[in-house]
Amino acid sequence: MHLNPASSLAPLYNELREHFPHEPHWWPMHGEDRAFEVVLGMILVQQTQWGTVEAAVLRILRAGVDSFEALATTDPDHLAILCKPCAFYGHKAIALIRIAQNVCTTPGGSAALVTGERAALRQTLLALPQIGRESADTVLLYAGQHPLFIVDAYARRVLARTGVYADRVDCLRAPYDEVQRIIEADIGPMDVTTARELHAMMVEASIHHCTANNPRCTRSGAVRRFVDPRKCAQHCPPCTGCPAATLCQHHLTIG
Ligand code: SF4
Repeated sequence: MHLNPASSLAPLYNELREHFPHEPHWWPMHGEDRAFEVVLGMILVQQTQWGTVEAAVLRILRAGVDSFEALATTDPDHLAILCKPCAFYGHKAIALIRIAQNVCTTPGGSAALVTGERAALRQTLLALPQIGRESADTVLLYAGQHPLFIVDAYARRVLARTGVYADRVDCLRAPYDEVQRIIEADIGPMDVTTARELHAMMVEASIHHCTANNPRCTRSGAVRRFVDPRKCAQHCPPCTGCPAATLCQHHLTIG
């Protein structure tokens, strides 16, 4: 894992890496079909906490829906029950089945979702139901081998508050592609492991410290519980505050 030390993001990345040790099961996989589980999790997590998603993923797998082939022929009402209580579970069940049917009728199957040129793959993913830019990039990064920066709400919040790119872009409000282009230009080439780690760090910083309201700048991180004990087993032990506090504009100016 190596982020360009000359990039503007390197100091923040290094602080976060020191605080949140490498988590090998940050996105816990339960079977062999990585693309299937990433798509499942990526759709279910929209507007839903990961703990709820994890439980739904396990219910779906245990019901025998463990591949795009099985998903493509699952009854939507049955799948909706398995997805509940994830937000919009009925719509998500229908979207998941349509995505699976698309994958099953595409030459190359799930490998075709993530193999090839990034921009072209993204356009293909964006044409699928319930998949926006963030979701498409999540599939390319975690199911494929495309090292990119995901501009999700967590990253926007941490970057806006720390002010890392305040001289170049409004990370909170600027369009997704603009923020991504500026950050990737700053970082330069990175390997996929670093890109996954970077995304995980942004999420971890947000859920443990840089919460939407009352950020825990000088308090121990919020504790999260997950179904899978491997998930975040090492993360955010009791601490005295956010690892970004020494370089965060929001904290240093507002306190
Ligand atoms: S110091 Fe506070 S505002 Fe800044 S990133 Fe950390 S939690 Fe967020």
